Amino acid sequence: MSNTPLTADGFFGNFGGQYVPELLLPILKELADTFEKYRNDPEFLKDFEYYLTKYSGRKTPLYLCSNLTEKLGGAKIYLKREDLNHLGAHKVNNTIGQILLAKRMGKKKIIAETGAGQHGVATAATAALMGMECTVYMGAVDVERQKLNVFRMQMMGAKVVAAQSGQRTLKEAVDEALNAWIEDPENSFYLLGSAVGPHPYPIMVREFQSVIGREAREQCLETEGRLPDYCIACVGGGSNAIGLFSDFVKDESVRLVGVEPSGRGLEPGQHAASLCLGEPGIMHGFNSYMLKDENGDPAPVYSISAGLDYPSVGPEHSYLKDIGRAEYVYASDREAVDAFFTLSQTEGIIPALESSHALAHAIKIAPELSKETIIIVNLSGRGDKDVAEIERLVEAGEFELPRMNG
Ligand SMILES: *Cc1c(COP(=O)(O)O)cnc(C)c1O
Repeated sequence: MSNTPLTADGFFGNFGGQYVPELLLPILKELADTFEKYRNDPEFLKDFEYYLTKYSGRKTPLYLCSNLTEKLGGAKIYLKREDLNHLGAHKVNNTIGQILLAKRMGKKKIIAETGAGQHGVATAATAALMGMECTVYMGAVDVERQKLNVFRMQMMGAKVVAAQSGQRTLKEAVDEALNAWIEDPENSFYLLGSAVGPHPYPIMVREFQSVIGREAREQCLETEGRLPDYCIACVGGGSNAIGLFSDFVKDESVRLVGVEPSGRGLEPGQHAASLCLGEPGIMHGFNSYMLKDENGDPAPVYSISAGLDYPSVGPEHSYLKDIGRAEYVYASDREAVDAFFTLSQTEGIIPALESSHALAHAIKIAPELSKETIIIVNLSGRGDKDVAEIERLVEAGEFELPRMNG
């Protein structure tokens, strides 16, 4: 159930909405109605639960990092292990949910966008599982950079289309995916990868990802006998963060912290910190904090982690920021890479570079906090996908491989 006010046309305060071509309104209405019909339907929820459990391996553990906690000498750091999901990240929670809706709507074709390819791979996998046709739009630059993920999608039967316009990255992939959807709304279902886009996507993705927060809350109460003091997650579009936050929004004692990428620095084009450094604006059909260029268009963005470089952010985060219920901070490439090495060497867990941003913030604040303080960090994904890039950067002398354990 929804924790934050949402009007019929999908606004969180001023944020969200449906700023789309007229043509899309009835399609979005059909989707919103279907979602409302099934979100509390016992059969639907049973199906969802079945695949989360048997296909993705939930529930994911809440793991106490004893070594890291001891090393930092302050707050206890727990990881919500979303990296242990099938395909190595939280994304599959959402693709399972949406594809089950698509099936109930009688759709035959799945359309999706992808940046680094993680959402594309999760979509291709669940489309294969459900025997549905799948086309994934990906910026031509990303197709070149992420060949392995392109091949993964193709192996699972998906067609990958390279988007050739503009910066030829995620933004253009979304533009082209939306166009493909408008061309054949009868048969196709647009499976969006984060808590962004026009209503009902932000609330729908939130609901499918809220399993993260529900489990974490229950697990923390079980092991610690009380709620955590901090919930920390990285924010790209904001789906893993809102998934963790949603079950804690009502608990005023729990501090919710979203961590954005400040990349190489705070100058325009060097980061993707939409909430921290942006201003309200409309793109991809919704109103939210956004990074703009001098013409008010979406600005070029950058982060070492391809999953975080989006110039806008889920509208519910903008709302939580403005009402002061959640706080948003940033971590740089360098801080994220340090956290990446630190977790690898203290716990033997290689985190995704995206998740490393959340971890970096926990590592920053933990030493100043009491030993009774409980921090939950959402480990949104595993880092295997990033190992080759880190190796390249170490070889190029940009980062040094630390040797902490002798
Ligand atoms: C895609 C991705 C993210 C960013 O997406 P959100 O919608 O902000 O969660 C974060 N972590 C991992 C591992 C990802 O694959």
